[in-house]
Amino acid sequence: MTITATKLLGKPVQEAILEDVKEGLAALAAAGHRPPKLAAVLVGEDPASAMYVRTKTRTCAELGIDSEAIVLPDSTPTAELLARVDALNADDGVDGILVQLPLPDSIDTAAVLDRIDPSKDVDGLHAQNVGMLVQKRPRFVPATPGGIMQMLDRAGIEIEGANAVIIGRSEIVGKPMASLLMHRNATITVCHSRTRDLPGVCRGADILIVAIGRDAMVTQDFVKPGATVIDVGINRVAERQRVEEIFGARADWEKFDERGYIVVGDVHPEVAEVAGALTPVPGGVGPLTIGMLMANTLEAARLRAAPAD
Ligand code: NAD
Repeated sequence: MTITATKLLGKPVQEAILEDVKEGLAALAAAGHRPPKLAAVLVGEDPASAMYVRTKTRTCAELGIDSEAIVLPDSTPTAELLARVDALNADDGVDGILVQLPLPDSIDTAAVLDRIDPSKDVDGLHAQNVGMLVQKRPRFVPATPGGIMQMLDRAGIEIEGANAVIIGRSEIVGKPMASLLMHRNATITVCHSRTRDLPGVCRGADILIVAIGRDAMVTQDFVKPGATVIDVGINRVAERQRVEEIFGARADWEKFDERGYIVVGDVHPEVAEVAGALTPVPGGVGPLTIGMLMANTLEAARLRAAPAD
């Protein structure tokens, strides 16, 4: 296997984002304001979601941002979740609110997201914040696509005029990613489960953003030689045979046996033989998301400290 792709690591970009956040926090403190506070609401017991919330609150603690995790059972009715959100909206001590997605099927996700005070909506998923982003006057940019823009810029990847193909049209990644890249003058194609000739469309991409949620689905035949490939997917593969199919002799069996699964992106590892640059999973996009969430929490506190006219 001859690797052509430069590894785009998330950690250095996260560190740069967090350095800026630390400066902002110091300025806020110097102006006499209390530290920002983030409230994270987790419904149900999905282990990956629980891990994300832990990572978020831990990073807050490392930076001196206050945080609170509100953990509710799977059976929580929409009305109760809405009441919790109302209480957080009304709490002057809370600057940022996030509801960890996905919510259980029984809950009306759109109703919950729209209930969050838009000035505290640090995930940028409230309809008002989505509208502002689409109109190129963003308040809170969703953390994952916002982080990807930072990574592309810091790696010196040319966006203007580039053909950018996004696989996945989620509210949290695909759609905001399309707005952000379009605002930087890329030509955008958004693909999804009904796209015809997906590999062929993707082969036209200078920048390929993959947010599907299917392990190793994007193979070499999706990728133009030299393209930049951003792998957003986080998939736990617990079947031994599938791990073998994906990694062959390079499978990390020690890790598999220790955890019972391997974390795999949506992009097949063999794409590193074709792409010009590629984010690893884990260690690529994940850290950016955390960094940008912290930046958005700081921004929420700033907005509350000095509201715009
Ligand atoms: P989602 O799960 O809401 O939707 C998946 C999207 O993929 C849909 O738009 C669907 O049309 C498309 N899709 C599904 N099957 C397809 C196929 N066969 N061909 C083409 N398109 C197909 O998407 P999401 O919430 O953006 O999550 C996608 C992945 O990204 C998941 O693995 C998730 O865990 C991961 N994720 C990672 C981060 C991070 O911080 N790294 C953040 C958010 C999501």
